[in-house]
Amino acid sequence: MSTPTPLSSTPAGKHALVYGGSITGLIAVGVLSHHFEHVTFVERDRFEHGPRVRKGVPQAAHAHILLTRGLNILGEVFPGFREDLKAAGALILDMTEHHAWCMGGVWLPRGRIGLDFTCQSRPLLEWVIRQRIQALPNVTVRDGSEVTGFQTSADKARVTGVRLQAPGGGEEELLEAELVVDASGRGSRTPQWLEALGYSRVEETLIQVDVVYASRVYQRPRGFEPGWEMMSLSPRLPEQRKFGNIQRIEGDRWLVALGGWLGEGPSATNEADFLEFARNLPEPHLYEALRHAEPLGPIHHYRFSHNQRRHYERMPRFPEGLAVVGDALCSFNPIYGQGMTTGALQAHALGEHLRQGLDGVAQRYRRHVGQLLAAAWSMAATGDLRIPEVEGKRPPGFALMNWYGDRFQRLATQDPETLRTFMGVVHMVESPAAMASPRRLLEVLTARPGSDARKHAPKPMAIASNQAV
Ligand SMILES: Cc1cc2nc3c(=O)[nH]c(=O)nc-3n(C[C@H](O)[C@H](O)[C@H](O)COP(=O)(O)OP(=O)(O)OC[C@H]3O[C@@H](n4cnc5c(N)ncnc54)[C@H](O)[C@@H]3O)c2cc1C
Repeated sequence: MSTPTPLSSTPAGKHALVYGGSITGLIAVGVLSHHFEHVTFVERDRFEHGPRVRKGVPQAAHAHILLTRGLNILGEVFPGFREDLKAAGALILDMTEHHAWCMGGVWLPRGRIGLDFTCQSRPLLEWVIRQRIQALPNVTVRDGSEVTGFQTSADKARVTGVRLQAPGGGEEELLEAELVVDASGRGSRTPQWLEALGYSRVEETLIQVDVVYASRVYQRPRGFEPGWEMMSLSPRLPEQRKFGNIQRIEGDRWLVALGGWLGEGPSATNEADFLEFARNLPEPHLYEALRHAEPLGPIHHYRFSHNQRRHYERMPRFPEGLAVVGDALCSFNPIYGQGMTTGALQAHALGEHLRQGLDGVAQRYRRHVGQLLAAAWSMAATGDLRIPEVEGKRPPGFALMNWYGDRFQRLATQDPETLRTFMGVVHMVESPAAMASPRRLLEVLTARPGSDARKHAPKPMAIASNQAV
C-alpha cells in the first residue's frame, strides 16, 4: 500500500470531526488529514475487516461506477490509489474501449478515448479507501458510534462539536471539534438539528423517480470473449424506461443490474422474473450473456424514491464550524453514476477553502458547492424530467434542450471529437457548457446524424466450443 501524504505545513486547525464512514466521509477524512493536526472519523456501523456490504450502506450490493473525475480526485487525495485498487483486484478501464454502451437505442463507437473508469464491487472500493485512512497517523476511527446532535457556542452561531452515543442508546459523550463534517447520507438530520437551534429550515428540491434496482453477482463464463468488460443498455426516455448493465468485478465475476424508472423492475427474489426482464430489454446482448452465466448469490433489490437536493447555500444564516457533504447534501438518481464523484468534488472543494484558513470556511464552502452541484443536478434532472409522469418544474426551453441533447448524442456516434466532449461531460472532466460552444453548436445544428443505430453494436457473443451453454 502507498505511503500517506504528510500534513500541510500550516494546518488550518487542531481537530476536525467527520461523521458517516462511507465513500464521501472517507474522502473528506483524507482531505482534512492534510489540513488538521488531528481528525476523528465517526461511523455508526462497526467496520469489519475486508470488503463487506454494511447495514448503513445497503446500496453497496449494487453496481457502482466511479467516474473519471472521481477517480482523479481519489488519486490526488491518496497518491498511488489506482495501484492500490488494481492490487485489490479492480480493473481500471477506458470508457469507450472497454465499455459497450447502447444509449437511447444507439450503440456508441468503441476505441480508446482516454477517460478511465473503475470496475469493482462497491465494498471493495470502500475497503481500499478505508485501509488508506486507517494508515493515516493523525486519524482516529470511531466505528460503532452514532452522532446524535451538535454542540454549539452559547450564541449558537458556531458548531463546536458533536454528541456521540452507541447506536441504540448508552452513555452520551461530547467531542469538541473546530470543524464538523456531516457525511451521514440521505438520512442526515442536520436540517432538523439546525431548525432546533433556531435556524430556518433548509429548502429542498425533490424529484420523485421511483427507480428500481435489482442486482445479482454471476460467475463470468469461461471462454466468453464479448469484447467488452462492461455493457450498458440505457433507455430512450421517455418511451423506454428499463435499463440493464453488466460490469466485470474482482474475482472474474459479473455484477448485473436491471431496473427502471417509475417502479419498472424485476421482482425482489424471482429468478425467472429477473431473466425475463433481461430478455425484454430492447437489445438482446445482455440477456444473451446472462443466459450462459452461473449466479453466485441472491438477487438484491433497492428502491430509490427521489432525487434530493438540500440548498444550504440559500439559508440566510448558517453556523460556522459545519460542512455538509455527499448524499447528505445532494443525492441523485443512481443511474447517472454521479453520487460518489460529486461527493469527492465536495470534499476536494472543502480542502481548497481550508487553504484560506478556518475562519468563514463554512460560509465559503456552502456557497461554492451550491454552484458546484448545479451542473450535475441539471444533468440528472433533465434526464428524469423527460418522463411526463415525473413531477417537477421543467426549466424554460426544456424541449429545445432535449432536442439539442439528442442531436448531440447522435452526432457523437459519428464524430470522435463530439464523442470526446460528450464523454468528458458525463465523466465530469468537462463542463456541460463545452457541449454548447459556438463550434459545437454549429456542428450539431448542421450535421446530418446517420441512421444506423446498430453500427457499433457488439458482435454476437462467442463462447469457446468446449463450454456447455
Ligand atoms: C442502487 C444505487 C446505485 C448507485 N450507483 C452509483 C454509481 O454507479 N456511481 C456513483 O457514484 N454513485 C452511485 N450511487 C450513489 C452512492 O451510493 C452514494 O452517492 C455514495 O455512497 C456516497 O454517499 P455518502 O458517502 O455521502 O453517504 P452514504 O453512502 O449513504 O453513507 C452514509 C454513512 O453514514 C453513516 N451514518 C449515518 N448516520 C450517522 C450518524 N448519525 N452517525 C454516524 N454515522 C452515521 C451510515 O452508516 C453510512 O455509513 C448509487 C446509489 C444507489 C442507491
